[in-house]
Amino acid sequence: MPEIKWMESPNYSSGRNGKKIIAIVDHITAGLMPGTLSWMQNPMAKVSAHYLVTRKGEIYQLVKDEDTAYHAGVINKPNWVLYDGTNPNRYTIGIEHEGHKNQGGDGTLTENQYQATLWLHRQLIDKYNLKITDSHIIGHCQIDSVNRPNCPGANFPWKRMFEDLRKGVIDMSLEKWMVEGGQKALTGLAKRKLVNNPENWISEEKLAEPVPSYLFWMMLQRLAEKIQVR
Ligand SMILES: [Zn+2]
Repeated sequence: MPEIKWMESPNYSSGRNGKKIIAIVDHITAGLMPGTLSWMQNPMAKVSAHYLVTRKGEIYQLVKDEDTAYHAGVINKPNWVLYDGTNPNRYTIGIEHEGHKNQGGDGTLTENQYQATLWLHRQLIDKYNLKITDSHIIGHCQIDSVNRPNCPGANFPWKRMFEDLRKGVIDMSLEKWMVEGGQKALTGLAKRKLVNNPENWISEEKLAEPVPSYLFWMMLQRLAEKIQVR
């Protein structure tokens, strides 16, 4: 699992003015490490992002999620349906990706960088219950289509990322349903005194090693429901 390295930036406002995080804004930097990181830590720059994902695949956090980073900049002919007329920094999380000219400046991420940002997107989507749509995961160009049409760049892997994010949600849901179904089934069966000590049934792997575990729990759940009907 990637780790997030804390590298505080002075360029932020405390809190979010009562706004909720509703979207992630993806960016590409116009400079390479370590300069691009130290620039965002320089009070003169007055810019920052919550996260910076390097071409090596490292993740730096510069501003806490609950605080407002300065990444969305000037609003210029936005084409973002969730833009509410107020400062988007207040209700978004900004992720910068290291890139410069022919080293990913067009949004082409390295494989390590892609995997790291995919992981980071998943964490944030899960934590803030964000939807996986192009209104909730957007490019900087959707906020400033005039001066930032190339942020995060024409080759930013939107298609691959949305596919991977959606697939991840299906896996996570199956896992969640498996656990819920298993618990419901066990409680139901225990109530009817059909199993003893369900609290000892913690490891579903042990119970159903050759069967995909969600399938096993689903069958048990069906069984419990059947018994209930009678
Ligand atoms: Zn940008």
